Amino acid sequence: MLGISVHEAAAALRLGQLSATELCQRCLSLIKETAFLNAYITVTEDIALKQAAEADKRLRQGKSLGKLDGIPFAVKDNFNTTNIETTCASRMLKGYIPPYNATVVQKLLDQGAVLMGKTNLDEFGMGSGSTDSIFGPVRNPWSYSKPYREKRVECGSLIDEDSDWVITGGSSGGSATAVSAGTCYVALGSDTGGSTRNPAAHCGVVGLKPTYGLVSRHGLIPLVNSMDVPGILTRCVDDAATVLGVLAGHDPLDSTTIQDSFQPFTLPDEVYVKDLCVGIPKEYHAPGLSAETLSIWTKTADLLENAGARVVEVSLPHTCYSIVCYHVLCTAEVASNMARFDGLEYGHRADVEDSTEALYSATRREGFNDVVRGRILSGNFFLLKQNYEKYFLKAQKVRRLIADDFVKVFSSGVDVLLTPTTLGDAAPYLEFIQEDNRTRSAQEDVFTQCANMAGIPAITVPASLSSRGLPLALQFIGQAFKEQQLLSVAKWFEKQMHFFPLQFYRNQANGDILPTNSKSATSL
Ligand code: GLN
Repeated sequence: MLGISVHEAAAALRLGQLSATELCQRCLSLIKETAFLNAYITVTEDIALKQAAEADKRLRQGKSLGKLDGIPFAVKDNFNTTNIETTCASRMLKGYIPPYNATVVQKLLDQGAVLMGKTNLDEFGMGSGSTDSIFGPVRNPWSYSKPYREKRVECGSLIDEDSDWVITGGSSGGSATAVSAGTCYVALGSDTGGSTRNPAAHCGVVGLKPTYGLVSRHGLIPLVNSMDVPGILTRCVDDAATVLGVLAGHDPLDSTTIQDSFQPFTLPDEVYVKDLCVGIPKEYHAPGLSAETLSIWTKTADLLENAGARVVEVSLPHTCYSIVCYHVLCTAEVASNMARFDGLEYGHRADVEDSTEALYSATRREGFNDVVRGRILSGNFFLLKQNYEKYFLKAQKVRRLIADDFVKVFSSGVDVLLTPTTLGDAAPYLEFIQEDNRTRSAQEDVFTQCANMAGIPAITVPASLSSRGLPLALQFIGQAFKEQQLLSVAKWFEKQMHFFPLQFYRNQANGDILPTNSKSATSL
């Protein structure tokens, strides 16, 4: 039994029921067997086995480095990793081998965690489906689960095995899939507008976006510096708390991190919500919200009330401007961030020698996909002298209003907010790609984006399966640096939902490997 959580796997390692090498080998074989999901861009098999052997040595000698010693983890391919290719799923960085580890990667390695590989994403994190990658789209493992397949057959709409699957959400879809499919216990994502929470919701795992400044961005290849945060994907809330304890705190290499030290916390076994005030933002009743999501949202509000919490309707009046405001701020930062990719210093270089300008433009035309090029163009437009005030400055002001909405609500006595994470369950791939990247993001990020504008923490927790057999989730949004309170409520909610994560198992009859979310299945 692989165990579901870090906690369980760590206990098995400590008790000697399993070695770190065995655990690593099981994850490696699962990575190979689920390669069709396209979750990983690079699998670091040799490194993982070496690190696992070192962990075993420490465990044997009673010198464990802590809870994560020997625990397999994966990293989104927009975090730098020493001597391991880091591509951002872009032709521009294909072949780029960074000379250093992102702080968050180093912190996990320092705890003895075992690096399984680098995960797939939308190019440079620009997207919400993990479909816009030069390595091809990521497939949601739940597409292969019994409930989903049966429903497709039942309604006569199963087209063919190879094209009938749903998206993972994005842009950290590789990381969400890696955790959901059981190929690792923890994965790092990044979250600029929802990129950790959105795929976590669609893949039925927990996704935490910490407060801006709590976790170092050093070594995370930037998308929107003023909003990016490393995200944590795990199979349960307790694990997210454990990993946050390892990652959080000041980093001299990231001047935007907090100065104070962070006190790691463990959540108690029993969590209570009786003295809490939970806000339900009325603006989150957005067009397109599925009836099923609305129903879990309402039921959860009732459950909270029955458990003694005070549930109040609140208003965040500037919510409706967040997507358009994000479009201006995101593209403006993208335009300046991407300027470094000119064919001279990093990655791809076009085979053009006519002039420096011709080299730049050919490199960028060849290196970036049309989504990235489109955002650079928009961003440069907003930053033009004659547009700067009209668009960029105005968007900055609106951002402040969006952030102030949260401040007002929280200072009125509300502790956390309860919202949906996404409008509904994951879309079929063929349907999703009918829309352009921007329209899709606008739909997918509608409930997640505001927390990035305000820099406050938010977590998504799986709730139940939709009538199509796909995961549905809810989001809690908390106050800046009050992760402990946020995670406590999230754990309470998790306990009420009894959502059982996906596990792959081998069909004894024909040797096929299949996912299940039933407790009775024997895992690999
Ligand atoms: N979907 C949003 C975008 O495309 C957010 C991406 C993210 O959080 N990295 O910009």
